[in-house]
Amino acid sequence: MIFELFPYRRSNKYKSYLSKKLISCWDVEIQGKIIAGLLEQQAAFSYLRGLFKTEKMNFDVLVIGSGPGGYVAAIRAAQLGLKTAVVERAEVGGICLNWGCIPTKALLKSSQVFQYIQHATDYGVSAGDAKADFPAMVKRSRDVAETMSKGVNFLLKKNKIELIRGTAKVRPGRTVEVTDEKGEVATYTASHIIIATGARSRELPNIRQDGKKIIGYREAMTLGKQPESMVVIGSGAIGSEFAYFYQSIGTKVTLIEVLPNIVPIEDEEVSKTLERSFRKPE
Ligand SMILES: Cc1cc2nc3c(=O)[nH]c(=O)nc-3n(C[C@H](O)[C@H](O)[C@H](O)COP(=O)(O)OP(=O)(O)OC[C@H]3O[C@@H](n4cnc5c(N)ncnc54)[C@H](O)[C@@H]3O)c2cc1C
Repeated sequence: MIFELFPYRRSNKYKSYLSKKLISCWDVEIQGKIIAGLLEQQAAFSYLRGLFKTEKMNFDVLVIGSGPGGYVAAIRAAQLGLKTAVVERAEVGGICLNWGCIPTKALLKSSQVFQYIQHATDYGVSAGDAKADFPAMVKRSRDVAETMSKGVNFLLKKNKIELIRGTAKVRPGRTVEVTDEKGEVATYTASHIIIATGARSRELPNIRQDGKKIIGYREAMTLGKQPESMVVIGSGAIGSEFAYFYQSIGTKVTLIEVLPNIVPIEDEEVSKTLERSFRKPE
């Protein structure tokens, strides 16, 4: 019975200590007093621990990073009644909404519409000459991303989640240090800290990005002018998307892949079908 009440103290040393105590105390009243005393002690400890916790901690849950990993966790925590905050050093919504899934799909939508118009006569539609307005496509993509980011901001507010702007560092003692744009540091404590800081793209050792001639995904979706030609290194989902987008609006694209198939982590059948469609003249 005692061990049921103290499941987290089942070490052999403790068991033998208790059994010795109890066996030596034949008097039931004394046994009861020992149990009651131990129980009271535990209850008092947890009561004090509880008091200590709520007095000291700023938040029940503090999430670092507001991407899909972070904001969804924060909203759920808030919905469960926990006092929640999110720390974000850049755009709310993370890479996915601002620089990943969403703006790339917006660009792809533009190229799809362009392709439809180019092939309109195939469908019995006369639409005249289509022209890809590259800056307008980029602007639309940025606008879509901004709208989505505002949407997440709204959701955080609606769920009473505090948004803390700055770069977070986890410190000992469930403490998070946040440095804002001006370099000012604020310290927060939380009973639970969720690290949802996402991933970074890796640079190739001999092909360093200079942001002009050798660019990464951010520059690739915000270029001021459509390039005449482009080499895309890496044919994973992201590389293939950029290759398709630029090629479909008239840029001459060369896609480089070290492995035998493009989109190498997909099924071979998918890779082959995509490769055929990439090679097919429009
Ligand atoms: C070009 C591109 C296209 C993509 N397309 C797709 C797609 O179509 N489908 C898909 O499923 N995935 C896609 N992805 C991947 C997708 O973006 C990521 O899987 C997703 O964003 C991961 O979400 P996350 O919440 O883990 O991290 P992220 O979205 O990266 O968010 C992390 C956030 O944490 C913040 N942060 C980091 N460190 C700190 C710190 N110390 N303090 C405060 N804040 C910090 C960052 O500013 C960022 O906002 C794409 C990625 C790229 C780059």
